Amino acid sequence: MSPYDVIVVGARCAGAPLAMLLARTGHSVLLLDRASFPSDTLSTHWILRPGVELLASWGLEDRLAATGCPPIDQLRVDFGSTVLSGTPTAANGPATTYAPRRSVLDALLVDAAREAGAEVREGSSVRDVVWENGVVAGVRGQDARGVPFAERARLVVGADGRGSTIARAVGAPVTKDRGPLAATLYGYWSHVPADGAETFVRPGLGASLWPTHDGLTVVALTLPRTDFLAHRSGSERLYLDTLDRLPELRARMHGGRLAEPVRAAGLLRNFFRLPHGPGWALAGDAGQHKDPIGAHGISDAFTDADSLARAIGQEFSGALAPGRSLARYAARRDAGRAAMFEFVCRQAELQPLDEDFTRVLRASAEDPRLRGELLDVFAGSRRVEELFRLARAGRPDQ
Ligand SMILES: Cc1cc2nc3c(=O)[nH]c(=O)nc-3n(C[C@H](O)[C@H](O)[C@H](O)COP(=O)(O)OP(=O)(O)OC[C@H]3O[C@@H](n4cnc5c(N)ncnc54)[C@H](O)[C@@H]3O)c2cc1C
Repeated sequence: MSPYDVIVVGARCAGAPLAMLLARTGHSVLLLDRASFPSDTLSTHWILRPGVELLASWGLEDRLAATGCPPIDQLRVDFGSTVLSGTPTAANGPATTYAPRRSVLDALLVDAAREAGAEVREGSSVRDVVWENGVVAGVRGQDARGVPFAERARLVVGADGRGSTIARAVGAPVTKDRGPLAATLYGYWSHVPADGAETFVRPGLGASLWPTHDGLTVVALTLPRTDFLAHRSGSERLYLDTLDRLPELRARMHGGRLAEPVRAAGLLRNFFRLPHGPGWALAGDAGQHKDPIGAHGISDAFTDADSLARAIGQEFSGALAPGRSLARYAARRDAGRAAMFEFVCRQAELQPLDEDFTRVLRASAEDPRLRGELLDVFAGSRRVEELFRLARAGRPDQ
């Protein structure tokens, strides 16, 4: 078995950039995925502003734009009684975002990892980790032809999604679990123009649309999980019937055609797992997952990749006691995500807006600056904690 510095299992939003960053800093990296790229996956694909800023910092935003993915500068959030609409802002101007097809985005990330010097093996399925004296020392699995393999490394990273094989193999404890709250159904439409991102928030229903590659618009619906479990008529029927509950959106889609079969995800747990232990770490959905209603997963996975790459560099440098850098990575993740986790769970419950939020929203009608700040929160360029602070301080009523 050839020893690597790091084996990364899973080569999408968390794993591929992590492998790229580690390889760029001179580490030997093996990146494994059972998929072969380009490969689609069950996910819509709006990348919030923090994710776009990381792509830019890695030198990949221009490459993404060159794939023909339309930039998104406008955001409209429709609460029924109030509509927020405008250009979210970042430090240096508009908070441009993108909604690239995953087949395009993930292949671009895998190519970048390979170019950086990571060894990429597609079609390679990991079955288990290898233990040595209580420390994870490698993985075993089988390649696309069914031939078993085993590889060793100083650290194994599970970037293998919410059903992570690595998390299960190492027994990573779940530290917070809100279970599944909502179901998501989405479809790709031709002849439904979208000039930016749009979200509709209603009790018992959420909807979002984004322009994507090939002139298509992806329209996603969030509905109570119980509605999803109770339906018996197939995902497409449920999707179209649910769309009919938003007549203002449905009217705009007149003349549009579903370009691909409707996709559905009904069992999306909201959880945190402890993301590190002796010889192992977790990144992206493997370590923390929340309902896609807020579109945070890709951006969070990029953030984990960036943060974990630094932590691994420090860990290997021996500057701190063993495990210390990884513990800091975990603490940063938990502190950075706690408030948004609660906010997203609340959104996914699809309940009427709470009092604090209603108050901020009402005040925003008279206050353009507040309206802009709210839009920034939904685009990810402003932290949700600021929204809570505004609500608590009662600034809107002053
Ligand atoms: C319906 C839906 C809509 C969503 N919409 C959005 C959105 O609009 N915006 C957003 O930011 N996020 C969205 N998300 C969330 C987003 O898809 C995830 O957060 C993101 O993909 C996480 O990336 P990841 O790299 O951690 O995991 P994944 O993308 O799940 O990648 C894991 C990889 O690991 C591989 N793998 C798994 N097990 C093994 C194994 N044993 N051996 C080898 N390889 C393995 C898989 O093949 C896969 O390629 C959505 C999710 C869903 C379900």
